[in-house]
Amino acid sequence: MAIWNLGSINADLVYRVPHLPAPGETLASLEMSRGLGGKGANMSVAIARAGAQVRHLGAVGPDGGWMIERLLEYGVDTRLIERRSEPSGHAIIAVDDAGENQIILYPGANRAISELALAEQLSAARSSDIFLFQNETNAQITGATLASQRGLQVAYAAAPFDPEAVKAALPLLDLLILNDVEAAQLAEATGLEPRALPIRDVVVTRGVKGATWYETDSGSATDIAAIPSNAVDTTGAGDTFTGFLLAGLDRGKPMRQALDLAAKAAAIMVTRVGTADAIPDLKDIEDRFGPGH
Ligand code: ATP
Repeated sequence: MAIWNLGSINADLVYRVPHLPAPGETLASLEMSRGLGGKGANMSVAIARAGAQVRHLGAVGPDGGWMIERLLEYGVDTRLIERRSEPSGHAIIAVDDAGENQIILYPGANRAISELALAEQLSAARSSDIFLFQNETNAQITGATLASQRGLQVAYAAAPFDPEAVKAALPLLDLLILNDVEAAQLAEATGLEPRALPIRDVVVTRGVKGATWYETDSGSATDIAAIPSNAVDTTGAGDTFTGFLLAGLDRGKPMRQALDLAAKAAAIMVTRVGTADAIPDLKDIEDRFGPGH
């Protein structure tokens, strides 16, 4: 079995600044770092580190070779990632001494994925596979429709949130993952609480308060507690949670066990600074929680 992840690949360019720039101001940065990010790339890395096979569907520009190499090093199948003429997606992040930040996001190649190529790629998918997507690329509905037609389970991590994107995807979904802010926005846009959505499984994450899994067939709601952790940076906790949840399902775990694994991975992730490069693996989980994952 494999997970086909249609998702963004971004360079996170982080500049340390004495203060956030004011309009018209030119500011020298004290320090710069470049890391791999983008919700899609984060989830692919999490899936690979959780021991499942992941084929990343997406695109980078001529400047994106290092990101493909990094994904490959982390165990992601990168053979289907397109090289486009647009620059790669990137985030220009200014961070001041108080930890406040300012972010400019340029989607670039993430929004230039060829629907034709995607259709060709997905023709090799099997009905036992899973299709995952987020809201940082183009071609989402095309991909989800093709995957659903081929009998794959379709999972959507609905971020960054856009009510219209979720409404369009709803009829295609088997699993929806969103955080509590997004769940409230969706309820406002559709009039439907998570348990009333026409989707088999809905998972709402609530940060340090844990997560809730709604099974719409039975109407049951199961809480998955967050695991107490010394949190220093919660960036990427949601992507790590989603990647480990999907990997657990792909590896044949029941939903509840896959959710427990996801909570463990996210609990380690919040103790680390960084995004894709900081995502834990199964060994980290064993070191903290013991064997058997
Ligand atoms: P992000 O956008 O920052 O990646 P998110 O809003 O999508 O995050 P959250 O709901 O913040 O996702 O977190 C996902 C999961 O991570 C939670 O359900 C929980 O299991 C775990 N988690 C988040 N914050 C903490 C924390 N401080 N301590 C332990 N676990 C946490």
